[in-house]
Amino acid sequence: MAKQQSKKMEKKKTVNETNSGNCKDRDCPFHGSLKLRGKTFKGTVVSKHEKRIAIEFERMIYLRKYERYGRTKTKIHARLPKCAEKNVNVGDLVKIKECRPLSKIIHFAFLEKVNTGEEEK
Ligand SMILES: [Zn+2]
Repeated sequence: MAKQQSKKMEKKKTVNETNSGNCKDRDCPFHGSLKLRGKTFKGTVVSKHEKRIAIEFERMIYLRKYERYGRTKTKIHARLPKCAEKNVNVGDLVKIKECRPLSKIIHFAFLEKVNTGEEEK
C-alpha cells in the first residue's frame, strides 16, 4: 500500500510540472490522451476561435488542361489546446499534425509554433 501511494504522488508531481497553467484539456496532445499521427503541415493562422484555429498554406497542383502547375490554397482546421491558446495569434506560422477526428471539421491538432508573423515583418 505504501509503495502504491508514493508512486501516485510522483505521478501527480510530474503532471503538475509539465502543466503550463491549468491544462485539463483531454484533447491536448501534450497533457491529454490525444495521440498525433499521420501528416504534418505548416501554415499561417488565418482565424482563431475557442479551442480551434484555422491555418492556410499554398500548394502546387498540376493542371492537366494547361499542362503546367498552379497554386491553390488549402485551409485546415486544427484543435488548439488551452495551454497553447495564449501563444498563438492570427498571422503566426505554426505546425499542425494529424490526429483522430475530433469533430466534423477538426482532424488536426496544434503541434508547435514556428515563428510569429509580426516578427517576420
Ligand atoms: Zn495542454
